[in-house]
Amino acid sequence: MSRRKILAGNWKMNHGLQETKAFFSVLEGKLPTPKAGCEFQLYLPYLSLATGLSEAPQSIKIGAQNAHWEMKGAFTGEISGPMLKEAGIDHVLVGHSERRQYFGETDDTVAKRALSLLKQGFQVLACIGETRAERESGQTNKVLEKQLTPLCTTELQAYFGKALNFAYEPVWAIGTGLTATPEQAQEAHAYVRSRVSASTSILYGGSVTPANFASLLSCKDIDGGLVGGASLKSEDWLKLAQILVNS
Ligand code: PEP
Repeated sequence: MSRRKILAGNWKMNHGLQETKAFFSVLEGKLPTPKAGCEFQLYLPYLSLATGLSEAPQSIKIGAQNAHWEMKGAFTGEISGPMLKEAGIDHVLVGHSERRQYFGETDDTVAKRALSLLKQGFQVLACIGETRAERESGQTNKVLEKQLTPLCTTELQAYFGKALNFAYEPVWAIGTGLTATPEQAQEAHAYVRSRVSASTSILYGGSVTPANFASLLSCKDIDGGLVGGASLKSEDWLKLAQILVNS
């Protein structure tokens, strides 16, 4: 199985119903058709998911930014897999660095979310990445290894590429305008590749824009992008989609 090329967008806590509608109305008739093996995914805030499903072009898979591992229960503020399924959602992001940094997400809770969602039939994109201090002290691979270990159990390996894919997002590059160079990104991706299967897609995330996406995509182990800021603007999204399709 060859790995998919994926353009994924993470809207974070942006775009309510009206902005979601406006975003997709600009895409109408302009989004390039993804060729075989290419995929577009957009991770929306929960309240915008239904609007995304009804307004987005068919070729964009609409996903949630997180979900709990339990099916239901006393978990105030959480959303479960069955709730997402009922709402028509098949894709979920787990382990984004903002969840880890601000909401106490750990390597183990990320893996618990991933495993539960995969067992329920979701497509899961799991995020990993080091902080600036960790990179500067030469800990990048050690941190990636620690984050990857609970995501690479025998049980989870069965989903590699088919339903479980990864995003390498250096924390120092997220929302900062400091993109990793293609060399830095490729080096980290090669490390992640050594821990996952050849069929697993590994996306790069961290200040991806239409100006740097093509050079990142030209790296051997970079299979796409997870894009925050630039995924919020329809015009940028269209450019990123075209770059993916041309790659
Ligand atoms: C992200 O939200 O995952 C991200 C990479 O954000 P940005 O593209 O804005 O750096």
